[in-house]
Amino acid sequence: MIAFFLAAHKLKNRTEPNTAMSVLQYIVVLVIMASGIAVVTVDQLVTTNITPFLLICIIVGSVFLIRPLISFMIFITSYAAYYYLIALTITNQQILLSNRVNGITAIGIGFLLSLIMWHYNFTNITQKRCIESQQKQLEKMAYYDPLTDLPNRRYLEKLLEREFSSMQRCGHETVLIILDIDNFKNINDTYGHPVGDNILRQLANLLINNVRESDTVSRFGGEEFIILMPKTSVEEGYAFAERLRKLIMEKRFTVGAITLQVTASFGVSSMADINNQNLEDYYFHADKALYLAKQGGKNRVEVACGG
Ligand code: GH3
Ligand code: MG
Ligand code: MG
Repeated sequence: MIAFFLAAHKLKNRTEPNTAMSVLQYIVVLVIMASGIAVVTVDQLVTTNITPFLLICIIVGSVFLIRPLISFMIFITSYAAYYYLIALTITNQQILLSNRVNGITAIGIGFLLSLIMWHYNFTNITQKRCIESQQKQLEKMAYYDPLTDLPNRRYLEKLLEREFSSMQRCGHETVLIILDIDNFKNINDTYGHPVGDNILRQLANLLINNVRESDTVSRFGGEEFIILMPKTSVEEGYAFAERLRKLIMEKRFTVGAITLQVTASFGVSSMADINNQNLEDYYFHADKALYLAKQGGKNRVEVACGG
């Protein structure tokens, strides 16, 4: 009985039954119903009441989460078994008739309870799912850029906090690269904002497809992207930025009938060289390098002083 109630308690607390759980549950229900019918059948040798059958119907109806159609089939099958089996031990026809009628009441109560349980839990599950999906949506809105689907600045700030402690623990170097599209305003002015948006999306895909799994590409704002490369030396960061620069320069960005060539400038900064641990400092250094790249004629990579 203790094991039964523990199992029942677990079943009551669960949110969404999977197929294996459901099948197991139906088997348990059938076994319980069968044992109830067996007990009441033997009971008829000494007493005329059908309390065990009624109790079993109430327990099955109120504890288990069963789909209405399956519940209906279980109760009907159980009643059929009950109907024929009690006739084996009841000789008095009046008592037999009375117990068969009472049996209908018992399965009726059980089925009704089962319907109420299903409805109550189904509403709960639906509401829970709805809240979860809304939470996911809110999280996506807060941490991802809707145009490119890349992580945004807020996400990067959170990621950097974790990266600082990881750097402290493991003592590795991490590189931050700022990438800014050259003369992007001209593209917007010449071909329109939607074409500019499309270029941003294509560039985001290019970046995502070329970074390592451990790197993070984020859209920092406008036509500016930041790539965070953990466990990377500044030399490796520079070489990687150079590779990206060439890839972008060589790519033909096609939007409808328009084919465009785009270039970008890069600022590379090593995070191991700077003492203050906040994004603004790292951003400041990488941005200074980016500024040098722009000043130097664009489509270039510059490394932050000391990095
Ligand atoms: P530079 O080479 O010095 O970086 O010049 P630039 O024209 O790229 O830079 P500037 O800061 O003058 O202009 C940035 C442009 O980026 C202006 C703005 O309209 C455009 N921009 C920012 N966000 C978006 C966006 O989400 N979609 C589109 N299409 N354009 C954007
Ligand atoms: Mg720009
Ligand atoms: Mg810019």
